[in-house]
Amino acid sequence: MSRVDLLSLLPPELETLSRRLGEDRYRGRQLAAWLFKKGVYDLEAMSDLPREFRSRLGEEAFIGLPEVERITPSQDGSRKFVLRLADGARIQSVLMPDRDRLTLCLSTQVGCGFACAFCLTGTMGLDRNLTAAEIVGQLAAARLALPPESRVTHLVFMGMGEPLANYDATVRALRLFTHPGAFGYSPRRITVSTVGLVTGIQRLAKEDLKVNLAISLHATTDDVRGRLMPVNRSWALEDLLAACRRFPLPVRQRMTFEYVLLDGVNDSPEDARRLTLLLRRVRAKVNLIPFNDWERSEFRRPPLPRILAFQAILLEQGITATVRWSKGEDIGAACGQLKEPRLPKMASA
Ligand code: SF4
Repeated sequence: MSRVDLLSLLPPELETLSRRLGEDRYRGRQLAAWLFKKGVYDLEAMSDLPREFRSRLGEEAFIGLPEVERITPSQDGSRKFVLRLADGARIQSVLMPDRDRLTLCLSTQVGCGFACAFCLTGTMGLDRNLTAAEIVGQLAAARLALPPESRVTHLVFMGMGEPLANYDATVRALRLFTHPGAFGYSPRRITVSTVGLVTGIQRLAKEDLKVNLAISLHATTDDVRGRLMPVNRSWALEDLLAACRRFPLPVRQRMTFEYVLLDGVNDSPEDARRLTLLLRRVRAKVNLIPFNDWERSEFRRPPLPRILAFQAILLEQGITATVRWSKGEDIGAACGQLKEPRLPKMASA
């Protein structure tokens, strides 16, 4: 029987595991407190659990914490974590401080198969999905690197990969992040960003999670969006926006639309006006992201006056629109810049 990763189990499942190993349920709650509240990932250090129980746990389960290969600090205070997983795959997560917030940007896949034209991660192709434990493990690794007084306050699923293409692991990770007996985050502090997988949005709408949703829109016509984002050939703008309109948003919450501004491609005043029309009847806010250059990219960042003119048109029409200057640009950690070279495959024994 294969051993289970304890970081993938919700508190009630840890209780069930404890019962199966002949202990009372409350041992499961103690275990959850060590893992999720105290951030202790060594069974031997869980001093209030009986020695016999810890040794049986060690036979049936493990704690698959990713190994921190390196942490690269940026001039703007953000830090890129390169993490190595058990099979040697590497992923990245990014810690971004902003006033009293400390946001962790999480990956959900090794690479990404959606091939958006402006995104460096998209050039990698998809290697594999992450498990829920590997998603949660990114927060565990970040917490270990932080001083005791600092806490990750917000989580965004905007790193490598498309969260809704790894639906089950993403939803399990969201449950671990929000369960009061696990990490206990308010769902309002968590944002899932999608390239626009309509079936995934419809499934997520039926979960009781109430997390924020961000849509990578990036264009206002099917023609341009289809060129920038191949996913638009499966779900056109009209289907995507219909799914957004039906998504049950909690009161006072708005859906975020991400729009990367590419010089001469999607940044005209006509684009801005079309965007206001597309977003009618959605409680929307727009994040305008001036393109982050990367080597060999065919795109450029628009000049500042054009960025501000685009924003002004949205604001005139009553749409909240913020220009988001990405963090971590100098360390290759900004939006669309995450990429890790593959390691040579290990020869199997
Ligand atoms: S933007 Fe997101 S979905 Fe598109 S290729 Fe990059 S990581 Fe994948």
